[in-house]
Amino acid sequence: MSVLDRVELYFVKAPLPAPFAPSWMPGLVREAITFYLVRFITDEGVEGWSAFTSGGRERAGLGDTLAKLFLGEDPEDIDRLSERIHIMAVGGNFNWWLEPAFWDIKAKQAGLPLYKLLGGTDDCLRLYASSGELRDTGARREEAEARYAEGFRTMKIRVHDFDETVDIEHVSDIALYMHGRMTISVDCNQAFRLTQFGKAPQWSLERARRFVDAAADVGLAWVEEPLFGEWHEEIARLTAYSRVPIAGGELHVMGASELIRMAKMGCYNIYQPDAMFAGGVKQGLEVARACRELGLKFTPHTWTNGFGFIVNAHVHAASGFAGETLFEYPLDEPGWVPEGRDAIIREPFRHDRGWFDMPQTPGLGFEIDHDKLSKYGCCFYKASRREVHWMPEALAKIF
Ligand SMILES: [Mg+2]
Repeated sequence: MSVLDRVELYFVKAPLPAPFAPSWMPGLVREAITFYLVRFITDEGVEGWSAFTSGGRERAGLGDTLAKLFLGEDPEDIDRLSERIHIMAVGGNFNWWLEPAFWDIKAKQAGLPLYKLLGGTDDCLRLYASSGELRDTGARREEAEARYAEGFRTMKIRVHDFDETVDIEHVSDIALYMHGRMTISVDCNQAFRLTQFGKAPQWSLERARRFVDAAADVGLAWVEEPLFGEWHEEIARLTAYSRVPIAGGELHVMGASELIRMAKMGCYNIYQPDAMFAGGVKQGLEVARACRELGLKFTPHTWTNGFGFIVNAHVHAASGFAGETLFEYPLDEPGWVPEGRDAIIREPFRHDRGWFDMPQTPGLGFEIDHDKLSKYGCCFYKASRREVHWMPEALAKIF
């Protein structure tokens, strides 16, 4: 049996080709993509990588905990490693994003792409284009035309206005404009309130009802997160009422236990847990199985960075839902494009006329571009089972 022998933590801050203003975080304009990167290495030299989106130095002190909880452990014992991540979560530190790094090792040791190790047979995922910025109706029409010309047949847009008539007019305009060519869905981003940079509207059940009525009238494919994520009873009432499918569940840090409970009480029609936030690959697939049993749909959220995209692609390809649901492809020109989004991954994950070919190399299926990593990132923590190096001065150079 191999064991986890070493761990390294990096911080990466890579420039975006143009500023990007995510609708879900009003007031923020991102000029760089920032994330923590972990590399676990076994005593046989097999590497597992993962990365998690970041705001600043919030995970700078994580190294010692990782060394204590994971070094010396069997990288293939995902149940035991997940339990260790849960121990961190009990302490208030949610780090489900570590779990895919162990799967990366496990699949490399098996010589298989992860989704095949997990029993998946879907080598190609049909995508929807997932837009991130708010736009006026003219710019939205141009964006939809561009995605349509690239081969996409479904596009998800965003609304986040305090005036509900602005939101309704926006989705109605684009849905009717693209009618017959492209299906539109909308993410209301109400489930998690990210108000640290600016104010955001908070929808009531009544406002959400009026919105889903309008969405159904113009034939939207689904409405995502129209209510606060902890209002389970209200979400279930809205879903029972709505003529358009309601989707959600991306960032529920309690993972499968909460999401399956929500599924049983009728909260959403489509579940979208992101493995990096909501319990890892293993719990994502547990949610997929529950969705199958309950007659619901499943397709993971992917909007963080290239690592989040590919980890969730493996979950989707293994879930059995790839033939039924579209997979999220984050794309918002000119700022959020594959080169910027995937930052230090050697071959950015590109689509091919609205489809994504799953990587066929063992593990998660990417290579780190070490030149870019040393240009845009720094290693600030290294530990083996024998020694520890903590290098805060490296972090200080980036901040
Ligand atoms: Mg969403």
